[in-house]
Amino acid sequence: MSFHDDTHGHRQFALPGSRPHYGPDKTVAVEHIDLHLTPDLANRRLDGVVTTTVRALDEPVASLTLDAVDIAVSHVSRDGKALAIEVRDDRVEVSFDPPIAAGASATFAIAYRVENPRAGLFFIAPDPAYPEKVAHAWTQSQDQNARHWFPCLDYPHEKQTTQTTVVVRKGEFALANGALIERRDDGDATTFVYRQEIPHPTYLTTMVVGPFVERDQRAAGAGKTPVAYYVLPGREADGQRAFGATPEMIEAFESRIGTPYPFARYSQIAVQDFIFGGMENTSATTQTDRTLHDEIAHVDFSSDPLVSHELAHQWFGDLLTCRDWSHAWLNEGFATYFETVWREAHLGYDEYLYDNFECVGRYLEEDGDRYRRPIVCNRYRDPIELFDRHLYEKGGATLHMLRGELGDARFWRSIRHYVDRNKERNVETIDLIRAIEEATGRNLRGFFDQWVFRGGHPELEVATAWDSERNVLTVTVDQKQTVSKDVPAYVFDVELGVIADAPDAPATDAAPGPIKGERRIELHVEREHETFTIPLDAEPKLIRFDPGAFILGSVKTTFGPARAAAAFGGDPSVVARIRAARELAKDGSATARAAFARAFESEPFWGVLAEAAGVLGKTRAPWARTVLLGGLSHAHPKVRRAVAAALGNFRDAETASALLPVAQNDASYFVRSAALGALGKTRDPRAFDALVAALERRTWNGTVEAGAVRGLAELADARATDPILGACEMGRDEGLRRAAMGALGRQGELVQSERTRVAGALDRYADDPMFLVSLAAIGAIEALGDPRHLGTLARIGESATDGRVRRDAAEAAIRIREAQSVPAQVTGLRDDVDTLRDDHRKLQEKLEALARP
Ligand SMILES: [Zn+2]
Repeated sequence: MSFHDDTHGHRQFALPGSRPHYGPDKTVAVEHIDLHLTPDLANRRLDGVVTTTVRALDEPVASLTLDAVDIAVSHVSRDGKALAIEVRDDRVEVSFDPPIAAGASATFAIAYRVENPRAGLFFIAPDPAYPEKVAHAWTQSQDQNARHWFPCLDYPHEKQTTQTTVVVRKGEFALANGALIERRDDGDATTFVYRQEIPHPTYLTTMVVGPFVERDQRAAGAGKTPVAYYVLPGREADGQRAFGATPEMIEAFESRIGTPYPFARYSQIAVQDFIFGGMENTSATTQTDRTLHDEIAHVDFSSDPLVSHELAHQWFGDLLTCRDWSHAWLNEGFATYFETVWREAHLGYDEYLYDNFECVGRYLEEDGDRYRRPIVCNRYRDPIELFDRHLYEKGGATLHMLRGELGDARFWRSIRHYVDRNKERNVETIDLIRAIEEATGRNLRGFFDQWVFRGGHPELEVATAWDSERNVLTVTVDQKQTVSKDVPAYVFDVELGVIADAPDAPATDAAPGPIKGERRIELHVEREHETFTIPLDAEPKLIRFDPGAFILGSVKTTFGPARAAAAFGGDPSVVARIRAARELAKDGSATARAAFARAFESEPFWGVLAEAAGVLGKTRAPWARTVLLGGLSHAHPKVRRAVAAALGNFRDAETASALLPVAQNDASYFVRSAALGALGKTRDPRAFDALVAALERRTWNGTVEAGAVRGLAELADARATDPILGACEMGRDEGLRRAAMGALGRQGELVQSERTRVAGALDRYADDPMFLVSLAAIGAIEALGDPRHLGTLARIGESATDGRVRRDAAEAAIRIREAQSVPAQVTGLRDDVDTLRDDHRKLQEKLEALARP
């Protein structure tokens, strides 16, 4: 079948047309870029002069090719004398006569104009659908779009100092990289001059222009770095909620990384319609304004993950820059890991560990559903394709595992040495390996081979058995992933903890070390099936496999109900408690039920209960429903959110009655949203009206409405099509529109009679101007699997401006073709399996009922 390929049963990452990428050769080093920019917001135009200083390397340089896309170059000169140029579609070739002598520097100026740019530079303005938008402009240069707003050598291995002069209309503000060295008014114009003294690559250059309001924050860290944020008028309080923790973050990171915050200042500017969450432009991060939030959202939404991520990039990405995109995990994996590190510093170890656990989960999902690739890999069509969960989440989780491998002290010593040794330079993964070796003596090439240079992960099944005659504990560790001659089993050491008496309640924020009375045993795993026999004085009540949750992979534990209940109720690791909850939910015994009931009374960490709610929902068992109904009034909004979502698995009036008031009145937008989605799943007759009513209102980022539109699609009711289509329209919030695309796909799946209308709408929205909406529509098309969309997908896969849209369209087309080739019998068999499962569940419930006293 074409379903699988040679990546051990997983889809290939490389799409047709991919090729290996290596950085270009260098003939010069760029020393300095001076930008003189005059943006015209009303006419969507930028006039610029870029003056570049280059130094010829070992040979004389007679010509230089600069990246420049859709840029009208009018004049190029050196020392006042015009230079010959050849302008092509995506580059401009400059000739030097006489050539630049080997080792000598030369400065040349290019005057140019950019009009209606497709990428790199974005002009935002009010329009009929969104009249509240404000006229402003921002750039987005990563990964190779600086070439859309100034001619440059647009590759991350080129690092240079920059000076940026921006001339704007009086009253407007302009932000660029580095220190503001001059601000002067000239009639009805204002000129801003910024200077970035530490060399940085072109993908981190920025210009933002508009009527922004500046808010200074507390100067932070060893160098008393000035900190500020900028928002459009009226968003000042929302800005404070979003960016308030930045000075503390700078200090937390400085103390761990060792190298003080490196640049002259740090600012964040929130812009409309941003195409990423944030972009770590050197010293001047651009953030989406969707992270600005009101007081209600602040109940259970925080901008800290985004803010800490972009801040961490100032070291990992900006000060040390990946040499080419195949090593971009040195930027993104680190930034993702430092989100977790900030959680640890700010909220404690439980939050740290759970955040990492969630990272692993998101990576596992991508690996299972989408494709498998090594973290470092150079076969792609566009570099943006690499910016996936392998790069971010797996990269981050690899660093957590590395911390486990080295221990805290050696880990941080290594990170400090890596940053100190490589600051202001370009890095590849080998530089990290060498830094660890220099700092600790540890040679981790084998570690990096397994986790970074090879795709996949171990899928572990761990079981325990106690032999009371011989007082021997047997632990089996099975690697269930495909193991073959070419794909050997993973080799790693892992700790096992045994404790004679299980604690009654879990300690909070316990470090991964042993707790009181715990004995640690090191297990060396290298084969597909490992069995360890451990003689003990008495039967252990609590067994802890990998107490630090360091191993990156999936881990399923089968400890038996008593030991699982002991772990669920007393293991200090939140991950161990979650694994125990998974085992217990499947078990469903009286012990298991009691453990869940107790957890909802006394579990101290919300994440464990959120996961527990999820597994309880999946059982669809009446006892689980009872526990969940109780959980709806839990004090923590993130628990209520997960509980409400889980209750969507139960289709009865009592559940709907419990969800209705939560959907309407809960203090949290997210809980209301989840309750609305679940309400739709109950298919209760009262749901339709409640969902339509919720869709009429407006909440922050369309959060509540998004739940309503999801719920509508779950009703399997033709009446839902119109309100869903209404939510898709331009003018509604972007977040709602994305959810509405998913709902549309689901509506097409559940209501056959609406299929044609749905297909028509998805086809239109597949290349929506909001690229995230377009991605959501493509996702819905893929889920529907309707071959009538193949033409649209092919067109978008070729022509979309955003590489992420091109990638998703191409992937969706491949999947739809694959699904077509699966014989219809398979689909029939899947339905049969579902029916059998249902019958099995019903029988089990009957048996349980009979077994009750
Ligand atoms: Zn990032």
